[in-house]
Amino acid sequence: MTATVPDPGLLALGADGAMRGATSSYEKRLGDMAGVYRDDDAYRAVLAENGPDFLVYRVEEHRNVDGEGALIIGTSTLQPGRYGDEFAMTRGHLHAKADRAELYYCLSGIGVMLLETLDGRSEALPLQPGEAVHVPGHWVHRSVNVGDEPFVTMFCYGADAGQDYALIERAGGMSALVVPDGVDGWSTRPNPDHVGYPGR
Ligand code: ZN
Repeated sequence: MTATVPDPGLLALGADGAMRGATSSYEKRLGDMAGVYRDDDAYRAVLAENGPDFLVYRVEEHRNVDGEGALIIGTSTLQPGRYGDEFAMTRGHLHAKADRAELYYCLSGIGVMLLETLDGRSEALPLQPGEAVHVPGHWVHRSVNVGDEPFVTMFCYGADAGQDYALIERAGGMSALVVPDGVDGWSTRPNPDHVGYPGR
């Protein structure tokens, strides 16, 4: 065997999402989030107030190896916010290779991992520092920040997984909305715009 064995990576993950050992990063800004929130007027009001370059979330990643069996490891930092009835959240996705699983480990802040299957199961799992969610394959997933501070998670998933972001948009959004409840609580309620996941 002469396959080249990659070098190991030594990483440091900060509670603020800074990651030593990251090989790349990307950011989503308010202008990238059109259509994500159910209340488009509320989204447009936040957009008018903060501008399209307002940072919504930042991802730092260590991805030095490709292909089946390799891992992508990174941090996601989701800023707090409210858009009408909904908390700030990521766009969400199903892995393009749908059987690929993912681990999310909370580094700081409080959030919810919103999960659902294509055949109608739905889960909203709370996360605080020290807690993790194992997202098995075949679950659509998105992070929601239900606090007032940045919600920072470490994630780890297969490098060949890929992401299907359009699936949620075609479905009219995920089936559940994560909404404020009480002074600083949250709950879920059905999304009346959700039409299921046609064609899957
Ligand atoms: Zn994922």
